[in-house]
Amino acid sequence: MSADHILTEQVFKAAEGIDLTEAEIGHLRGCADCREVLSVLTRHNRLRLQKLAVGSLRDHLPIAEIWGHARGSDIDGVYQNHLGKCDQCTDVLAFCRVSTSLRQVIQMLKDRGLKIE
Ligand SMILES: [Zn+2]
Ligand SMILES: [Zn+2]
Repeated sequence: MSADHILTEQVFKAAEGIDLTEAEIGHLRGCADCREVLSVLTRHNRLRLQKLAVGSLRDHLPIAEIWGHARGSDIDGVYQNHLGKCDQCTDVLAFCRVSTSLRQVIQMLKDRGLKIE
C-alpha cells in the first residue's frame, strides 16, 4: 500500500495550488494519510509569511521547513537559530534526512506525541 502513496514533492506542489494528476487526486480521496500531509502543508503555506513576520519563534519549526531543509533548501535565520538550540527539531531534521516521505515523519511525530506544526 505504501508504494501507492503520493510522493511528498507532489503533495508540496498540490499545497501550492499546482494540480495533481487524475490518479493522484483519486488516491487522495481514498487516503487519509495523504490528505493529512496535504493539510499540514496547506496550513503551513498559509501561516508561513505571518509567522516569519513576527520575527521570532514561539513554537518548534514547522515540519515543512524541516523537511525542505533536510533536502537542502535554505531556512530563515529565525529558524536557523532555533535549530541550533533545540534538540527536538534537530532530531526531527535527522529523521527527515532518512525518511522517504513526509508521511513517515508525521507518523513518527504522532507516535512520539509531538505537535505537528
Ligand atoms: Zn496515500
Ligand atoms: Zn524546536
